[in-house]
Amino acid sequence: MEYLDNNATTPIEPRVLAELLEFTEAEFGNAGSRTHEFGARAKRRTNLAREQVAAVVGADPTEVIFTSGATESNNLAIQGLMGYGVREGKKHIVSTQIEHKSVLEPLARLSAAGFEIELVPPRSSGAVDAERVAAAVRGDTLLVSTMQVNNETGIVQPIEELVELIGSNDPLIHVDAAQGFGKQLDGLIHPRIDLISVSAHKLFGPKGVGALIVRQRGAEPARIEPLIVGGGQERGLRSGTLPVGHIAAFGLACELAVSEAQARAEACESILNQALGFVDEAGGSINGDRGMLLGNAVNFSIPGMDAETFLLATKSLVAVSNGSACTSSSYEPSHVLMAMQLDQHTIDGAVRMSWSHLTGAVDWHGLIEATRPFIQRGALQEQ
Ligand code: PMP
Repeated sequence: MEYLDNNATTPIEPRVLAELLEFTEAEFGNAGSRTHEFGARAKRRTNLAREQVAAVVGADPTEVIFTSGATESNNLAIQGLMGYGVREGKKHIVSTQIEHKSVLEPLARLSAAGFEIELVPPRSSGAVDAERVAAAVRGDTLLVSTMQVNNETGIVQPIEELVELIGSNDPLIHVDAAQGFGKQLDGLIHPRIDLISVSAHKLFGPKGVGALIVRQRGAEPARIEPLIVGGGQERGLRSGTLPVGHIAAFGLACELAVSEAQARAEACESILNQALGFVDEAGGSINGDRGMLLGNAVNFSIPGMDAETFLLATKSLVAVSNGSACTSSSYEPSHVLMAMQLDQHTIDGAVRMSWSHLTGAVDWHGLIEATRPFIQRGALQEQ
């Protein structure tokens, strides 16, 4: 059975696991211990990891704030700006309807605190219209927050176009890059992107570690206030003893993502073609514009098959997801697919397949065989 749910989480790369173990077992020092070599070695490794993470997006290593993952980074970026927004009288935020809940929920908190939140809808392609997002910016806009790649559809968002349209002045720009960081390498280089949320477990690293990259624009003092206070680690923005093993592993995962980018992209591209071939042969439709896919995931619906039926019929062959695994504690229809204005049957049938360079051979023929009875029944019902 092949794992095709890499947008939920990726397996850990063997070299990354070895790094995690080394800086957990043999090198167990506290990076904050200043009085001995154990601490110094841990500190050196976390500093190297800062360089490895920063290098992916051309940031300065001092701009990397280690967190527990993209959920925390999104919360820190958005909730951490609340005080600044209130003080400056900037209480307007522009974001989109297709964001992950870890962006939408912090935005809802700011809304409850009197901020005005404008959520721009996507097009049926699954991408938001950069011009529409930029046009929503006003004089009192504190923040524009958009994702790099949608986790449910795999559709790449027009970040570069958006930052060009917004230009050099206010507002702050935040990108939730959980799904694209280390995969779409040129997407986050633009120095105008102020805040970038990333997560190690989407990049063949361990769960429980990530970063918020806080680019220093000019001589501006940091405007973000911490959500977690204590020992003042991470420039005061995220207190807590650093998980050195996890950070070391994350750093190596980032280095590998850059050095092996081409081979990974080629491996994914080949599986993308097979997946699209399968969807076509099964008479399915792609949810979103296939020309805008990052290339490691596809969301599709097959007429006559709801997602549960597909999961049951294929569970001995593949591990896939219906809609978004991140919200799968509830069976609410996907807010992303609803925002794309897909019809109810298509939303009920939506299946997400996501793969990586570590994915083995998928039994596409077996998948066609497993879906055939349902496809035929669906076709008959339509007649
Ligand atoms: N944003 C997006 C787009 C995601 O796909 C995810 C993970 N599903 C997150 C944020 C949350 O990341 P983490 O699991 O690191 O908290």
